[in-house]
Amino acid sequence: MAADSVTAPDARAALRAGEVVQATGALQRRAIAKAITLLESTRADHRAQADALLTELLPHSGRSLRLGISGVPGVGKSTFIEALGLYLIDKGHRVAVLAVDPSSSLSGGSILGDKTRMEKLSMHERAYIRPSPSSGTLGGVAEKTREAMLVCEAAGFDIVIVETVGVGQSETAVQGMTDMFVLMQLPNAGDDLQAIKKGVMELADLVVINKADIDADAAMRAQAQITSSLRLLGLNGNPHDPHSDKYWHPQVIRLSALQGQGLDAFWEAVSSFQRLQTANGQFASRRQHQALAWMWERIDAGLKQSFKNNPAVRAQLPAFTAAVQSGQMAASTAARNLLAALATSTPPATL
Ligand code: GDP
Repeated sequence: MAADSVTAPDARAALRAGEVVQATGALQRRAIAKAITLLESTRADHRAQADALLTELLPHSGRSLRLGISGVPGVGKSTFIEALGLYLIDKGHRVAVLAVDPSSSLSGGSILGDKTRMEKLSMHERAYIRPSPSSGTLGGVAEKTREAMLVCEAAGFDIVIVETVGVGQSETAVQGMTDMFVLMQLPNAGDDLQAIKKGVMELADLVVINKADIDADAAMRAQAQITSSLRLLGLNGNPHDPHSDKYWHPQVIRLSALQGQGLDAFWEAVSSFQRLQTANGQFASRRQHQALAWMWERIDAGLKQSFKNNPAVRAQLPAFTAAVQSGQMAASTAARNLLAALATSTPPATL
């Protein structure tokens, strides 16, 4: 089915799409910001325009490396992203930095909101930095970030870095929207145990031990420890498998973001990951899988929203809730009745 038959792009969206793709310098920056603001709007008419815009931008997007970076506050994410961003710009790339911070809606700030972070990178004309959307659920924030990523790609940014804080479920969301997920760790013992407990270590394609300049020995010990943790988790591949070298096995490297040391090794690891995953087909299949998972995630969220907004459901919910609470009705029976109320009432709501 052609995209046009799904959504007929309106003229205004088409115009903005053109501005995003073709404009340069400050004009393009303004067009990107306008496009992302439109995508973040919750108004239904804006959403329709935003969908039309996305459909227009989609053929121009996707040609980037999407890099997820996570770590606890203070590990050195912004110092690293600034150093890496400038390093990549020096190599001729254009770098966009986005963020997923579900806590920003509570704190009112966001992890990229502070203007003093990444000062040099944010001023560079070949970089674009956007703070985390500060509204709603993690799912909502992640959706807006995914869409912002498509806008940046259509504008020609060939490296998109998505940053997140190492708390809660945001790592899973960022791993689910990037080609490669990097976990930043401090060189002290115990840090890796936290990551293992939270299940974050399993998500990592690359583990970076930052601040190696403070204590080189500690960093080396951490590298050995995390490498053996990865082996215990079964992530280092099976040495007896003859096809083992066709697949990527997570690596652990040491660096100092502050001193800009280890950036070459980092980029070499990223590049070999990309080469290998492209050759074995994992790169493309991960993206396909992510796009479908994204669709289903939004369908789930949309269904839940229309369930909660449905007048028949809202009318019957208190009685069913009370019946389940008092033990008069099984939870599953109440759920079935409420779903039946949704199915037999209003026409399906739109997202
Ligand atoms: P974030 O919260 O993860 O973004 O961490 P920041 O990038 O803001 O860094 C937190 C602090 O650690 C800052 O004072 C940085 O200067 C410092 N820092 C970051 N990377 C390094 C490093 O490689 N070595 C040293 N010694 N300090 C670092």
